[in-house]
Amino acid sequence: MIISTGTASGKSLAYLTPAVASCLDGGTILYLTPTKALAADQLRGLRELRITQLRAACFDGDTPFEERTWVRQHANYVLTNPDMLHRSILPRHAQWSSFFRRLRMVVVDECHGYRGVFGSHVAQILRRLRRVCARYGSRPTFLLASATASEPGAFGMRLTGLEMDEVTVDASPKGSTTIALWEPPLTELRGEGGAPVRRTATAEAADLLADLVLADVRTLAFVRSRRGAETVALTARAKLADVAFSLSTRHPRPSTPRQPHTAGTTPLKSDPTLSHRPGTAEPAPLKTDPTLNHQPDTAELAQPAPLEPAPTTAHRPPAEPASTAQPTPRKTDPTLSRQPRTAEPAGPATPEPSRTTNGLPTTGPAVSASAHDGTVTEPASESSLTWALPDAPAQPDWTDLPNKIAAYRAGYLAEDRRLLEKALRSGTIMGLATTNALELGVDVSGLDAVLIAGWPGTRASLWQQAGRAGRDGQDALAVLIARDDPLDTYLVHHPQALFGQPVEAIVLDPDNPYVLGPHLCAAAAEIPLTDDDLPIFGTTTSTVLDDLVSQGLLRRRPAGWFWTKRERATDLADIRGGGGAPIQVVESSTGRLLGSVDEPSAHTTVHTGAVYIHQGETFLVELLDLDAGVALVSSATPDFTTFARDITDISILATQRSQPLGPGTLHFGEVEVTRQVVSYLKRRLQSGEMLGDEPLDLPPRTLRTRAVWWTLPASAVAPLAEAGIDLGGAAHAAEHASIGLLPLFATCDRWDIGGVSTELHADTGLLTVFVYDGHEGGAGFAERGYARAADWLTATREAITSCECERGCPSCIQSPKCGNGNEPLDKRGAVRLLNTLLSSQ
Ligand SMILES: [Zn+2]
Ligand SMILES: [Zn+2]
Repeated sequence: MIISTGTASGKSLAYLTPAVASCLDGGTILYLTPTKALAADQLRGLRELRITQLRAACFDGDTPFEERTWVRQHANYVLTNPDMLHRSILPRHAQWSSFFRRLRMVVVDECHGYRGVFGSHVAQILRRLRRVCARYGSRPTFLLASATASEPGAFGMRLTGLEMDEVTVDASPKGSTTIALWEPPLTELRGEGGAPVRRTATAEAADLLADLVLADVRTLAFVRSRRGAETVALTARAKLADVAFSLSTRHPRPSTPRQPHTAGTTPLKSDPTLSHRPGTAEPAPLKTDPTLNHQPDTAELAQPAPLEPAPTTAHRPPAEPASTAQPTPRKTDPTLSRQPRTAEPAGPATPEPSRTTNGLPTTGPAVSASAHDGTVTEPASESSLTWALPDAPAQPDWTDLPNKIAAYRAGYLAEDRRLLEKALRSGTIMGLATTNALELGVDVSGLDAVLIAGWPGTRASLWQQAGRAGRDGQDALAVLIARDDPLDTYLVHHPQALFGQPVEAIVLDPDNPYVLGPHLCAAAAEIPLTDDDLPIFGTTTSTVLDDLVSQGLLRRRPAGWFWTKRERATDLADIRGGGGAPIQVVESSTGRLLGSVDEPSAHTTVHTGAVYIHQGETFLVELLDLDAGVALVSSATPDFTTFARDITDISILATQRSQPLGPGTLHFGEVEVTRQVVSYLKRRLQSGEMLGDEPLDLPPRTLRTRAVWWTLPASAVAPLAEAGIDLGGAAHAAEHASIGLLPLFATCDRWDIGGVSTELHADTGLLTVFVYDGHEGGAGFAERGYARAADWLTATREAITSCECERGCPSCIQSPKCGNGNEPLDKRGAVRLLNTLLSSQ
């Protein structure tokens, strides 16, 4: 059974109830989670049940050896992870015989994490588990819990090899969250090929954070890197300092002590920029979100402002770059801006002591706000982020304002985390910028708003992060701020992709021979393999077994296949890595080992000059020494990010499936990819401005993997060429955008996949666009692209047409990892080409 529903929908209860009942009935439970932290959480919950017959225990790398024996012999609810199952429990199954004999249920929690190559390894580990159980005469029920995804039953079946029933209806009560989809404006800056550069998601997040904190809205901003989170916090604090300075010069600090925030706190919705704009006779109606009024007074409740009214904005000048659109508080006169919501003429302020706070952010550039039910309002056309200034007497200590915003990072001590939680609860801190490290550490409740800088990769993560907002059943706000990436562009223009049926499926490829081989060895070491075992491991098993025998890894005897080596068979499978000898990442000043990167990824992530992020901390790579297997790094705070660029060749080894697609053909099969990282691009962190392209000298690598590709016959492309379209540029642009959009359908990162496009490919003799899995043997992403090709390529076309740039930019067809320096690219040609491909003929 797989339960695939949203956060806080009661999944835990759904598996706990039968699991605990089984324990009381004399059975045992195996609980699997991807992380040790989650297992520890679960254990705490189980112990709080105070059921004496329930003997729950964690069994992971942190479990002391003296405790392990007790767990094996006495625990009836064992919490562990796939790594422990793989390395310790399955190889020593004999020691666990009494546990396995009574095993009733295997709970696979957070199973949406088992995707790609890692998921493929876990799938084989679960098959080994089923085989060991069978040996001891048990046939446990598998109960999987997953975030929402498309086709959960099919995923569950791939993961376990068993038929799955799915539960997908979520009937749990929920508060309402207003979701805003926020697209930063194009700026005057010019990037590669003269393309316009969008304002960065981090710059927008900093503005919004400052505005929300000024509006007394408790806000959490999720930023990708720790450096980014710190930049957001610093920038927002600087904005508050500006405001504080402006206010303190106008309203000298009174002698009365600072008043606490009280229930009378009223967000004052006003727009100071309106009051001194020539030609604005009357203050505009305010664009506010009633859901933000978590402490409304009666007047506010009686007449909540409409979400997106602002008819007067229509005659305003079109969007200015937001960096300049930010109103400067020093220019504003608080006495003018205090009461524009009502139609009173501006005049001297009447002090209202209960008012301690001020206005709300209004809409930003090109925002479409959407209620949770999927209704979408029109995007606003105007780009000022404003706040009103508070009344003088009630806001005593302006200098304290910047301290209301902080950055949070992983690695804080427990006591620091508790302090931070306390400060957030009490309102001493109103705004927090963090990486998603927060998910592991701090318990934050009582937030009103969440800012998410950049698409977090999956809908599951989006809802998880957005779910942080909303206290005591009150309504909340979540803002997704788009980065300059085709997928982000597509999503902010197509809210139905977020609010409709899920399209992204959790994909994995258990048949990947590079994954299957090592697990067959491990299985043979556990219990020799016989012909009866082959169906468990999939249709390719016998071929892979023959290979393993010819490599001398397994021995074929009349009774079956045996592991006869002295070494541990489980060492062959590096379940979290990508295979190959890993590159050690070492801090040069201290010799501290930060971690390791598999060799294929090393070329793109830790090349000389790369910005390397480890647990949210930023390092610069001084030197990548492939021969020594070491990347030397030093702690740094560069104000730029790096993108490795590669050039790629691809040849078709075998076509496994084909189907017609419009006038062309779609294929899926095995390919050999030769990739060479040739340079890296530097872009400024805050502005996104391009700082240069630095050459690199790295050897080419070959990769055998799987790809999806489409071709168009000469007869279909000839009319396009006659119309003056650069076919190579059109195919290249379509390739870039389609790589960007595949993660919408398969839970992968755009860095997990690559592509090649050509006007004429040697193996097909036709115009061909390939998208391949970036992992040895494949990971299931390209296969999913094949299965959903029409939808995927339609979304690709939409992403390109949604972007308002003229000739292509990073939000649509430019790729930060393009080894050809984004040349040639033809935006309109790409749309024409995709139109041709998607036309039914
Ligand atoms: Zn564009
Ligand atoms: Zn390219």
